[in-house]
Amino acid sequence: MTHTLIIGAGITGAAIAWNLTQRGEDVTIVSTHAEGGLASAASFGWLNASFYLSQAHYHLRHEGMAAHRRLTERLTSLPTTWQGCIWYEAAGAAQDDTAADLIALGYRVDRLTKAQIADRLPALGPVPETALHFPEEGQSDPATLARALIQASGAKVIRATVQTLTHDKGRATGAVTDLGPLTADRVILATGTGTPALLEPLGQNLPMLKRPGLMIATNPLPPICPVILAAPEQEVRQDAEGRLHAPASAGHQGDHAETLGSFPVVVNATLVRLRALFPGHEIHFAHQVMALRPVPEDGLPVVGQGPIQGLWVAVMHSGATLAPVVAELLAAEMTEGSESPLLASFRPGRF
Ligand SMILES: Cc1cc2nc3c(=O)[nH]c(=O)nc-3n(C[C@H](O)[C@H](O)[C@H](O)COP(=O)(O)OP(=O)(O)OC[C@H]3O[C@@H](n4cnc5c(N)ncnc54)[C@H](O)[C@@H]3O)c2cc1C
Repeated sequence: MTHTLIIGAGITGAAIAWNLTQRGEDVTIVSTHAEGGLASAASFGWLNASFYLSQAHYHLRHEGMAAHRRLTERLTSLPTTWQGCIWYEAAGAAQDDTAADLIALGYRVDRLTKAQIADRLPALGPVPETALHFPEEGQSDPATLARALIQASGAKVIRATVQTLTHDKGRATGAVTDLGPLTADRVILATGTGTPALLEPLGQNLPMLKRPGLMIATNPLPPICPVILAAPEQEVRQDAEGRLHAPASAGHQGDHAETLGSFPVVVNATLVRLRALFPGHEIHFAHQVMALRPVPEDGLPVVGQGPIQGLWVAVMHSGATLAPVVAELLAAEMTEGSESPLLASFRPGRF
């Protein structure tokens, strides 16, 4: 039986672990952070294909949503729901263009009038003239999902930091950690922002953007946001406890800021925007979580064979959406040698 060492216990490592053990493989996960990862524990968790950078990216994201649905059919009590998204981050002709582009790609898009928006979101203060509804979209909590997948996989988990990868005659043989060496037949880097440091000694350059992300959670509120709301003022979703979750940048998917700014200022600005969206509600700060987003320089996932045999790489932003499909495809590729055309644009060798 092939023994795989997965480095990283976020949603990417967890989803790969689950797919490999489903195929009868023996998996050990080693991770600095506990099950649930780093960026995965700070994610907005919006599962969508309405944001995309290329057609190939759109198709992978759309398959990502389908792979999430397959997971919820296989495993019970996952933190994934499909309430849809109401989107009006752009208006007028730009909104029409977004709708036309997505419909041309085969995405489900409904156009909503002001009255329809008010009907679906009665708590919303400023109601736009029009919005798009993406009924296929949903949300998950990637850290909780990662923990569920790791538990279901039965993979062994070791809390340790990998200092370097080991190899012999051009083949990966394992890793040296702060607790000692680990050997394996196959090594997978699901290490998010930690990936370039592990690849660099092997001569593989993986440039990443510096994009910190801050998520703010509020006090529990009555149900006021039954969809994922993507307004120009603020993206926001509400969890089962009634807490609003809001990225500190108004539109987090296109956020290119390299610094966050002063913490109290950023939190207060987010609360002001939330209170303007839902006036008449006592919205308070409850807690926050911050992480660097693992974004390769061109914004696209990096997935596939690394610079040596038996070493694989899976690093991506929008990993909340993408990890389940990337894991399915990589597991097939590793165990059957079948390369999916869906991954063709995202290979590590492009850098
Ligand atoms: C604020 C924010 C909002 C986001 N919103 C969305 C969204 O709405 N939709 C969406 O699809 N995506 C979103 N994302 C992106 C998504 O959350 C990430 O792409 C995804 O969580 C990445 O998961 P990962 O498992 O690859 O990385 P991580 O969760 O970062 O996990 C990396 C793992 O590698 C381990 N590691 C790293 N280096 C080492 C080492 N040397 N030794 C041992 N272990 C190591 C870490 O300990 C950790 O366990 C968001 C991200 C952020 C930060």
